[in-house]
Amino acid sequence: MGRIIVVGTGFSGSILARKIAEECNRQVEVVEKRPHIGGNMYDEYDKYGILVQKYGPHFLNTNKYWIIEYLSQYAELFPHDTHLLSFIDGEYVQLPFNFRTLQQLAGPKRSETLLAKLRAAFRGRDRVPILELLESGEEDIREYGSLLFEKAYRTYTAKQWGLQPEEIDRSVLDRVPMAMSFDARYLNKDFQYLPKKGYTEIFRNLLDHENITLRLNTDALAHIRFDDEAHLITYDGESVELLIFTGPIDELFGLKYGRLPYRSLDIRYTYENKKSILPEEIVSYPQAPGYTRSTEYKKFTFGLDKDLPVSMIATEYPVAYDPADEKANIPYYPVLTEDSQKRYQQYLAEAERYGNIVLCGRLAEFKYYNMDVCIEHAFEKFKTIQKRLENNK
Ligand SMILES: Cc1cc2nc3c(=O)[nH]c(=O)nc-3n(C[C@H](O)[C@H](O)[C@H](O)COP(=O)(O)OP(=O)(O)OC[C@H]3O[C@@H](n4cnc5c(N)ncnc54)[C@H](O)[C@@H]3O)c2cc1C
Repeated sequence: MGRIIVVGTGFSGSILARKIAEECNRQVEVVEKRPHIGGNMYDEYDKYGILVQKYGPHFLNTNKYWIIEYLSQYAELFPHDTHLLSFIDGEYVQLPFNFRTLQQLAGPKRSETLLAKLRAAFRGRDRVPILELLESGEEDIREYGSLLFEKAYRTYTAKQWGLQPEEIDRSVLDRVPMAMSFDARYLNKDFQYLPKKGYTEIFRNLLDHENITLRLNTDALAHIRFDDEAHLITYDGESVELLIFTGPIDELFGLKYGRLPYRSLDIRYTYENKKSILPEEIVSYPQAPGYTRSTEYKKFTFGLDKDLPVSMIATEYPVAYDPADEKANIPYYPVLTEDSQKRYQQYLAEAERYGNIVLCGRLAEFKYYNMDVCIEHAFEKFKTIQKRLENNK
């Protein structure tokens, strides 16, 4: 038996730490590099009382109600359907692109036939990736797909990922599909919620357990040592029984196979003496120079801030992750290309040589997980961890 170390306090690390502490009754040491818990879900009130999600807007959405029930043990949630607009050719259109957008972009006359063709081609489908429109056998559908692609997807992708759409994994492009209806909700999952007092409360309560010791402002990599030959891990020279790592996997192994690419965000805040700035809670700007979207947090309505005479927008400028640049030193999104996924496999093989490293989460598994998937995945990983800790007794 040795130390159980959890690196990172996002959903992956916090949930695993809590479950090990509570259900296995073991001491867990949680180490977090940043001065706060919650990873990219961290939020805080600004000086006006607006609850701001420091690392970009997050909406809890899932088809599995147990996830809502689970999180509700740690904080109060309320139903909230997310709405977005996209600013294209000087006009606001609905995002997801839906039948209303089609009428706006193609005009009502042309949309009459197009709507019929789309309904026939994608009968029974709620949302359809734009790439499928481009591959349709119907020329009209292909043409409309291509209009969306060139006006919105190509430019947005180029800014968001620093790549052309052809270079990026298809699963990433499929994340913003077209709604085959007038459904105006940005996401089409059945259960959409926000935490009443913000996400950080969930993490505070998850990590509040007598078996958990939390260390903030601590880079785990300065304490962890690998013995390559014996395949042993130590933390401050003491043996580690289990290392749960939720940070960037390439950094865990000293970048020995080269750096994995991540995108970061330079988020810039603008305050105005107005009750409201944007026409919707988030506006995406596929055609704007350098930035992708703006969020007006006040519109999430979960703060005490609704009647403030001031509002703020947070505008995202995507940049390449660079640990040495303070405007780009948070890895937000793994960039999934053929090359990066091959490199990830090398790191994965390296981790597997040890037998007591559990990689969990967006960065450690180098996958574009949403919160619900992250949570579900942490539950899955816990089953194996529980068995293993039982066997070690
Ligand atoms: C801008 C943005 C918007 C998003 N919007 C949504 C959304 O609307 N809905 C949704 O479901 N999902 C959304 N997501 C995804 C969601 O953020 C992730 O699924 C979730 O945060 C991943 O949690 P995690 O624990 O895997 O990683 P993280 O939250 O990244 O946590 C990793 C933690 O490890 C710490 N760490 C890293 N290296 C070290 C080290 N060496 N030592 C100590 N600590 C270390 C980090 O500081 C961090 O706290 C969004 C993501 C982004 C970036």
